[in-house]
Amino acid sequence: NPVADDPDMEKSRLQVAIDTLRLSVDEMLDRLEPGDKDQREVLEAYKMFANSRSWMRRIEADIDRGLSAEAAVEKEQSQARTRMEQVPDAYLRERLHDLDDLSNRLLRILSGQGSETGAEMPVDPVLVARNIGPAELLEYGRSLKGVVLEDGSVGSHAAVVARAWAIPLVIHAKNITAEALNGDPIMVDGDQGVVHLRPEETVVSAFRDKMAMMAEAQERYVSLRDLPAVTKDGQRIELYMNAGLMADLPSMESSGAEGVGLFRTELQFLIRNRMPKRGELVDIYARVLDAANGRRVQFRTLDIGSDKVLPYMKASDEPNPALGWRAIRVGLDKPGVMRMQLQALIRAAKGRPLTIMFPMVAQFDEFRAGREHVFRELEREYALGHIMPERVEIGTMLETPSLAYAPRQFYEMADFISIGGNDLKQFFFAADRENERVRRRYDTLNSSFLSLIERIVERCDEAGTDVSFCGEDAGRPVEALCFAAMGLKKLSMRPASIGPVKSLLRRVDLAEAREVISSARESGVQSVRQSVMDWLATQARNGNA
Ligand code: PEP
Ligand code: MG
Repeated sequence: NPVADDPDMEKSRLQVAIDTLRLSVDEMLDRLEPGDKDQREVLEAYKMFANSRSWMRRIEADIDRGLSAEAAVEKEQSQARTRMEQVPDAYLRERLHDLDDLSNRLLRILSGQGSETGAEMPVDPVLVARNIGPAELLEYGRSLKGVVLEDGSVGSHAAVVARAWAIPLVIHAKNITAEALNGDPIMVDGDQGVVHLRPEETVVSAFRDKMAMMAEAQERYVSLRDLPAVTKDGQRIELYMNAGLMADLPSMESSGAEGVGLFRTELQFLIRNRMPKRGELVDIYARVLDAANGRRVQFRTLDIGSDKVLPYMKASDEPNPALGWRAIRVGLDKPGVMRMQLQALIRAAKGRPLTIMFPMVAQFDEFRAGREHVFRELEREYALGHIMPERVEIGTMLETPSLAYAPRQFYEMADFISIGGNDLKQFFFAADRENERVRRRYDTLNSSFLSLIERIVERCDEAGTDVSFCGEDAGRPVEALCFAAMGLKKLSMRPASIGPVKSLLRRVDLAEAREVISSARESGVQSVRQSVMDWLATQARNGNA
C-alpha cells in the first residue's frame, strides 16, 4: 500500500527494519574470517550507508508526507537510481549501486521477505543476476561456484570480492536473466569470459576435457613451483607477481613468485569509502613486506585518475580521462597524498630494503621531481627518528612511448624501469584499453610494438638499468615468451599465470625463438604471432615444447 495515515506507526516500522538491516550487516561482518580484509572494507562501506542519517531523514520526510514506509524507501531508491544513471564516473556509480542493494534489503525486511528468495540452493550453485552488490555476494560466501551478470563491471566491489575468493565471474552476459531458469545447467569459463547455458552434450564433454587438462596442468605447475624459469638454452627469466589486495598475499608462497613486480597501491584506496590514514597504510605495507619475507616488492605510488577514481576525492570533469590528470601528474601537482604514502612506505620498511615506483611518468622531469619527493620524505622521517630503510631503489613505470625516447640521463638515473604494457599499448596504438572494439584490433605481438619493447630493453641495457614488464600480457605464455625473446629477463603477472608461463619457458630454446621472430619481422608481417605459433606447433610435434 503506497499511502499510510499513521506516520508515527510507519516511522517506527522503518526504525525496526533499519535496526534489523544494521544488525544483519554487523552479523555479516562478524562471520568474516580474519584474512577477509578486503571483504571487511566493503561491508564497512555498507555499514556507513546503513547508518546514514541523511538517508533515514529523507525517507522519514516522505513518510510525513503520507507515504507508507515501503513506498518511502522505494521513492528514495528510485531517486538514487536516477542520480546513479546521471553520474558519469563509473566508480561512483558502483558505490550508488551499493546503496541500491541496501535499499532492496530494507524493502525485503519491511515486506517480511527477509533474505529468503524462495529458491533452493542447488549443488555447485552458479548465481545469475542482472547485477549483484558485494554484501549479497558476501552473504552467499564461498559456496558459489560462479557468478554471471547481465550488467556488472570489473571495477565493482562485487568483482573485488569474487576475485579475492577466486569465484569465476562473467559480466555483460546479454539477456542471461531472461534466458536462464532456476535449475538450468550452466557452465562458466571465467578465463575466457564465456557462459554456456543448457549446453549440448558435445560442449559439456569438450568442457570436461578442458577441465581435466587444466587440472593436469595445475599439477604440473605445482611441481614446477620451486624450479626456476630457465629456457632450454640456459636463459634465466625471473617471474614476479602483481598484487594490490591483502587477499593476494598468500599467493606469494603458493605461486612460486620471486617477489612482487607491481604492487598497485591504489587498490587499497579504491576499496575504501574514505582516504586511508597514514597509520593504516603503514600497517598494510608492513604486512606486504612481512609476507614477502625478504623478496623484492615494487610499490607503485598512487595511480588514480582515468578509470580509477576515488569517491572521496573531487573528480575533475575531463573529456579524455585516460589522457588526463592522473597518476604522477596528480601526485606532483597535489603532493599531499603522495607524501603521506611515501612516509607510510618508509615507516613500514622499518630498516628493510624499500622499492618505490612512479606511475605514468611521461618525461624525465616528472621522474626527477618524484624522486626529489622521496629524498625529502626520507630526510623528514629521519629527523623524526624513524628507522631508515636499509636501501631505497627508485624507479618508474614506462607507460608512454615518450619515455622510451627520454634522454640517456633518465635511464641512468632510474634504478629500475617496469614496462606497463596495458597503458603503453593503448598510447602506442591510440586504442582505448577499455574499448573492446578498438583494443582487439592491435595484437600485442605486432612487429612495431615488439620493436618498441626491444628498443626500451636495449636502452636499459646500455645504461645498466634493471628492466621488467608488468602489464597483463606478461601473464600470457606466448606473449611472455616473445618478451623474453626481446631481451626482457623479468616479467610480472597475476599469480595464477606464473605456472603456465614458466612451463612454456622451460620447454623452449630462446635463441631459436628470437630467430623466428626476427625473420617474421623482416618478412614484413604485421604480427609475429602466426610464425611463433607455427614454430611452437612444430616443436610440440617433435616432442620439444
Ligand atoms: C599497465 O599500464 O600496464 C599497468 C601495469 O598499470 P595499470 O594496469 O594498473 O594501469
Ligand atoms: Mg598503467
